[in-house]
Amino acid sequence: MNIENVKKAFGPVEVLKGINLEVNDGEFVVFVGPSGCGKSTLLRVIAGLEDSTSGRVVIDGADVSATPPAKRGIAMVFQTYALYPHLTVKNNMGLGLKQAGTPTPEIERRIGIASSMLSLEPYLERRPAELSGGQRQRVAIGRAVVREPKLFLFDEPLSNLDAALRVNTRLEIAQLHRRLKATMIYVTHDQVEAMTLADKIVVLNAGKIEQIGGPMELYNSPANEFVAGFIGSPK
Ligand code: ADP
Ligand code: MG
Repeated sequence: MNIENVKKAFGPVEVLKGINLEVNDGEFVVFVGPSGCGKSTLLRVIAGLEDSTSGRVVIDGADVSATPPAKRGIAMVFQTYALYPHLTVKNNMGLGLKQAGTPTPEIERRIGIASSMLSLEPYLERRPAELSGGQRQRVAIGRAVVREPKLFLFDEPLSNLDAALRVNTRLEIAQLHRRLKATMIYVTHDQVEAMTLADKIVVLNAGKIEQIGGPMELYNSPANEFVAGFIGSPK
């Protein structure tokens, strides 16, 4: 996947100021940076949920914004879970597939696999209100998994969880990446999450990339004070 000189303005305010990034298939890429630096906006542009002002996102040779949403092979997981309160866990996970016309036995098969991976089998008939925050986020992740996307986008998926659940859910996401071998782009403002999950970290600041590199590379050789403050070893 290639992000080619992506710029995004809201009115007069330029939020993304020319983002260039290559993401390899199967890579776990973490976008890290302070609140308001443009992480969510960049994720939404990658997903095709938001048009860029200029530049483009190319996946398998095709411009995302020119590909119909159902054919993009992208699934997104949000901080707030975004589950339907009136639907059971099972139906929350299966709804997208049902709407896409996937046959019921195939939906059941995929829910079986995803709920086993995420330890959700005991909760399939419950509704979101009957679940803990961690369980709800696992349902939201499961809903992404059943779609069998090539690219997962996570927008601060652990932010609403308490510390213990954050660690558990983080480990589950890492395990999911190893098992599915899908490409994952993960947004966080937490350096521990970035350091432990990433193959490649992209440090963003005010709509620009400050540095791209592996966790140890950024830790040992931060390009500037900003990166050092976020990731680097104390000087
Ligand atoms: P982050 O996810 O890094 O916290 P965002 O991408 O959400 O940052 O936001 C980056 C900047 O763009 C912020 O200043 C935010 O207020 C602004 N912004 C985001 N979405 C919109 C929008 N739909 N309209 C106007 N401004 C927006
Ligand atoms: Mg955000």
